[in-house]
Amino acid sequence: MTPADGPAVIELRACALTYPGPPPVVGLSACDLVIRAGEFVTVVGPSGAGKSTLLNVLGLLDAPSSGSYLLDGIDTGELSDAQCTALRGQRIGFVFQSFHLLPYRTASENVALALTYGGVPRKGRLELARQALRQVGLEHRMDALPTTLSGGERQRVAIARALVGRPSLLLCDEPTGNLDSATAESVLRLLEDLHRDGMTVVVITHDAAVAARGQRTLTIRDGVMSERVPL
Ligand code: ADP
Ligand code: MG
Repeated sequence: MTPADGPAVIELRACALTYPGPPPVVGLSACDLVIRAGEFVTVVGPSGAGKSTLLNVLGLLDAPSSGSYLLDGIDTGELSDAQCTALRGQRIGFVFQSFHLLPYRTASENVALALTYGGVPRKGRLELARQALRQVGLEHRMDALPTTLSGGERQRVAIARALVGRPSLLLCDEPTGNLDSATAESVLRLLEDLHRDGMTVVVITHDAAVAARGQRTLTIRDGVMSERVPL
């Protein structure tokens, strides 16, 4: 099965978000979008374009002010806050520019913390964390504190944390924004490996070279999203 005929993981229908203000600010104008299972999609646009707004909507961190968002076919507008939180925990892994690791917890503890509310006992959580760290090539550093890891290693730990709950969607907001180019390349290769293994990946970036790594690139400008036609 190719992504073209796979099930939709993300479906936005006339989905918009306006920050109430005052004054009101359009974060995302009404947009329609389908991303299917197994796709690797990049979203590019200048600062202030609405990239993080889109990611927050896709990640169920912000509710659209109008239109609808279906995640794995579930109309998220019909869910309570608690149901949204549960769905987010089950289906979505986040990777952020600044890693967001707890400094006084080891790599494996940071990863295992993502499972705290999933009902897995502690020992099982640490074993799953070890497996996720192996997946990103960092099993040998599982007992290291983040302060002793390089930037690229920290982002790998953050990716392991995003993966450990076996999400159906990996959402990355400027995942290479804090990394030098060689390290950024290794993180991009890791994301490509995960995609090859079947993960649905969305990478948000202001960097055209990073955007070019996607199978599909969406452009966002002043909250308006469009599909970039390949040259
Ligand atoms: P990007 O991630 O592309 O840099 P954002 O999605 O963060 O852009 O922001 C899009 C627009 O929405 C910008 O004009 C920004 O100032 C505005 N914005 C973002 N967050 C808020 C907020 N919480 N309240 C009001 N305006 C916001
Ligand atoms: Mg942003």
